[in-house]
Amino acid sequence: MTRKIAVIGGGVTGCSIAWHLAEAGAGEVTLYERDQLGSGTTWHSAGNINWKPIGDHDAPVRYMIETVKSLGERTGLATGWHCPGRLFIARTDTGLDAFRRSAALAAERGVGGAMLTPAEAGARHPLLEPDAIAGAWFNPLCGRVNPADITAVFARAARQADAEILEGAAVDGLAFGGGKVTGLSVDGNKIDADVVIVAAGHWSRTLLLQAGITLAQRGCEHLYLIARPDPGLPRDTPSFVCPEDLIYGREETGGFLVGCFDRDAVVIEDDALPEPFTFALLEPAWDKIAPYYEKICEIFPALTEAEIPNFLNGPEAFTPDGLPLIGPMPDVGGLYVATGMNSYGVTLAAASGRIIAEQVGGGPPSFDADIYAPGRFGTRAEDDTWLRAGASAAPSYGYVKSNVI
Ligand SMILES: Cc1cc2nc3c(=O)[nH]c(=O)nc-3n(C[C@H](O)[C@H](O)[C@H](O)COP(=O)(O)OP(=O)(O)OC[C@H]3O[C@@H](n4cnc5c(N)ncnc54)[C@H](O)[C@@H]3O)c2cc1C
Repeated sequence: MTRKIAVIGGGVTGCSIAWHLAEAGAGEVTLYERDQLGSGTTWHSAGNINWKPIGDHDAPVRYMIETVKSLGERTGLATGWHCPGRLFIARTDTGLDAFRRSAALAAERGVGGAMLTPAEAGARHPLLEPDAIAGAWFNPLCGRVNPADITAVFARAARQADAEILEGAAVDGLAFGGGKVTGLSVDGNKIDADVVIVAAGHWSRTLLLQAGITLAQRGCEHLYLIARPDPGLPRDTPSFVCPEDLIYGREETGGFLVGCFDRDAVVIEDDALPEPFTFALLEPAWDKIAPYYEKICEIFPALTEAEIPNFLNGPEAFTPDGLPLIGPMPDVGGLYVATGMNSYGVTLAAASGRIIAEQVGGGPPSFDADIYAPGRFGTRAEDDTWLRAGASAAPSYGYVKSNVI
C-alpha cells in the first residue's frame, strides 16, 4: 500500500525534502505550508553557500551546489547561483596558519585557490585595506543563491515528481497511536499519515512541544545589514569571512551585505513572536551588531561613511553543538525532523532532503547522518537553562568550528 507522507513547512528545507521523497517514489507526498513557500526564515536568508574542506561540510555542500545547477536546468527556473569565491581573511599569523591548513586540504581534494598576501587580497576586493589583515586564503568554491528562487525550484521539481504542495495550510497538531505517528490536523481537519516530517524551522519546536516532544533547539536572533558604499561593489567581488572577528560579507546588487555570528546571541522566547510570523522581521539590533561592524570597518574603511538602508534581523534555530537535527525522532515511529539549521539551512537544504528520503525509504546513506541524529542530546534537551545557553553560544562557536581547521 502506498505510504502517505506529510512534510510540514514550506521553507527551503521542506521543499527539498518533498522533492527528494517524491523523486525517490517514497510514497504519496504532501507538503503543508501555513502561509506561502519561503515565508518563515528562508526569504530573508543571505543565501551564502560556502564549501569548506571540513568533514560535515564537504560532501553536503558539493551536493547542494550540484543540485542547484542541475535542478535549475531541469525546471527552467532561476536559482540566483553566483560563484565569485570567498576570501578567508586572517587578522593574525595564527589565523593565517589555520587557513594554510585549509588550503592544503582543499588542494588535496582538487579545489584550486590560493594563499594571498594582504596586497594580493586587496587587489581582489576594491574596499579591502591590506594593512588591516595578515593575509587570506581565496577559496573559489563559494557562492550564493537567491533563497526564494531555490525554494521555488525545489517546489516545482517536487510537483513535477507528483508531490502535492499546499500553501495556506497550517498544521495545528499531530496524532499518535501505538508508539507511532498516525496523522496530523490541518486547520482543524484530521488527515491520516504514515510518515510525518517536521521541517518548520524555528517553529518546529513549538509544534512538537504541543505533542510533548522537546526538540534540542532554540530560536535566536540572527542579523546582517546592507551598506551602500559609493562607488558600489562590482558583482564579481569575492565574498569574505573573518572567523577571528566573527564577521562575513558579500556583494549585494552593488551594496555590501555584512553580518556577524555574534557571541551570546539573543534567545527568542517560544511564545514571543506574533502568529503567524510570516514575511516578518525582528526589530533592528544596532547595539548588538555595532562592535562587529567596527571590526568590519577596520578591514573595509569605506563602510565607515556608507549609508545603511537595510537591517535584517530574523529568527533562526540553533542547537548546542552547532549541528542540525535531521532524522527520525527516537521512540516515535514514522516521525522525522529536519530543523535546527544553525544558519546553514540553505547550504544544507539538498543534503537534508536526501538524508530524509534515504532514511524514510531505507536506502543506503550518502552522508554521515549520525552526527545530525535528533535524539543525540538525550534528556538534556529538556533542561531549558542548558539548552538556552548552548543555543545562544552556538552562532559564534559553530562559526569558528566550521571555518577554522
Ligand atoms: C539573518 C540570516 C542570515 C542567514 N544566512 C544564511 C546563509 O547565508 N546561508 C545559509 O545556508 N543559511 C543562512 N541562514 C539560515 C537559513 O536561512 C535557514 O537555516 C533556512 O532558511 C531554514 O529553512 P527552513 O525551511 O528549515 O525553515 P523556514 O524557512 O523557517 O521554513 C519553515 C516553514 O514552516 C512554516 N510553518 C511553521 N509552522 C507551521 C505549521 N504549524 N504548519 C505549516 N507550516 C508551518 C513556516 O511558515 C515556514 O515557511 C540565515 C538565517 C538568517 C536569519
